[in-house]
Amino acid sequence: MSRPQQITVLGATGSIGLSTLDVIARHPERYKVFALSGFTRLSELLALCVRHTPRFAVVPEAGAARALQDDLRAAGLSTRVLVGEEGLCQVAADPEVDAVMAAIVGAAGLRPTLAAVEAGKKILLANKEALVMSGALFMQAVHKSGSVLLPIDSEHNAIFQCMPQDYARGLGAVGVRRILLTASGGPFRQTPIAELAHVTPEQACAHPNWSMGRKISVDSASMMNKGLELIEACWLFDAKPSQVEVVIHPQSVIHSLVDYIDGSVLAQLGNPDMRTPIANALAWPERIDSGVAPLDLFAVARLDFQAPDEERFPCLRLARLAAEAGNSAPAMLNAANEVAVAAFLDGRVRYPEIASIIEETLNLEPVVAVDDLEAVFTADAKARVLAEQWLSRHGR
Ligand code: NAD
Ligand code: MG
Repeated sequence: MSRPQQITVLGATGSIGLSTLDVIARHPERYKVFALSGFTRLSELLALCVRHTPRFAVVPEAGAARALQDDLRAAGLSTRVLVGEEGLCQVAADPEVDAVMAAIVGAAGLRPTLAAVEAGKKILLANKEALVMSGALFMQAVHKSGSVLLPIDSEHNAIFQCMPQDYARGLGAVGVRRILLTASGGPFRQTPIAELAHVTPEQACAHPNWSMGRKISVDSASMMNKGLELIEACWLFDAKPSQVEVVIHPQSVIHSLVDYIDGSVLAQLGNPDMRTPIANALAWPERIDSGVAPLDLFAVARLDFQAPDEERFPCLRLARLAAEAGNSAPAMLNAANEVAVAAFLDGRVRYPEIASIIEETLNLEPVVAVDDLEAVFTADAKARVLAEQWLSRHGR
């Protein structure tokens, strides 16, 4: 067999990063870790380096790099520690790398993910915020470099599996009527709306079906996650927002569906465990063991569906508006959401105020064209300032 594929895992200490390393460790003959990055929890990063012996590790600043380098040496490892965004871009684009798992959370993942795209790597995309922020530019870069872009988000991976191989010809050309994007509805699907003002970060992060990082857990509770995923689906599958319908499916067993013009609806099912889409993308077009238990349909017993309620989930409405407005709107939506969610997790704002912060931010700033990355980061920065101003205006 040929040499193992060299994999860079950006965001290795996070939920997706750890699941990726779990799958990789099951197939040492196929995959070798080339680089790992962490931002906090650097003792865990050290343990991951000991376990996977990467060529490089990347940390946010020089002091942490020195400490990690000393610990690695003491452990007898030759792993070299790199620093900051520059280090992330270097390990994303290194000529020896075959595939990059983009699993940094939020806008911080954009430049390193784009560096991997521009270097023509196989991209395993978990960092949906990167694509949401810079959709047109990101997809142009994918087409220019010939990079293979494979979705890790369970819904998009499911859609990818249910699409015909030549879907890049356009949904109409391949007979697809619409994409049905499933959502669990999160922990507050049935909470009385009046009580939402009093929910805590811990309640918001207690997802009924999935175990994930804190930011995406809050996004799932507010359904901003589904809004970001709607935008993500439009870019990945060249769909219009009107061709993507959100369906609440509380069991999270169907991960999404594709509706064809002949009336066929194809779905991908599985246990809610991210190792399935990770293994699917890592091995594509082959299949490998992911460690996920077989789906027990008798234990699942029933599958329920309902339409989302935009009064309960205003973030979904705001995301759809941003998807339709395009240009700078998705980057602003994402940035305002990042500020609002961080403030909610810090206990500075109440849960319903997340949507208020985003809506006011979007209303204050006109939508402008984004022709280059600088324009994307300008829109992102403006939205962050406006969202911070909301916080100071309200004494937070
Ligand atoms: P997480 O919070 O568990 O991990 C985030 C990772 O990013 C960590 O390794 C952290 O050290 C790193 N990081 C955080 N801030 C950083 C910064 N400023 N610079 C560099 N690195 C930074 O998050 P997660 O749940 O693993 O999610 C990661 C991405 O995958 C997100 O974009 C999320 O939307 C997406 N995703 C996650 C899941 C899931 O099940 N967890 C499912 C679908 C998509
Ligand atoms: Mg998802």
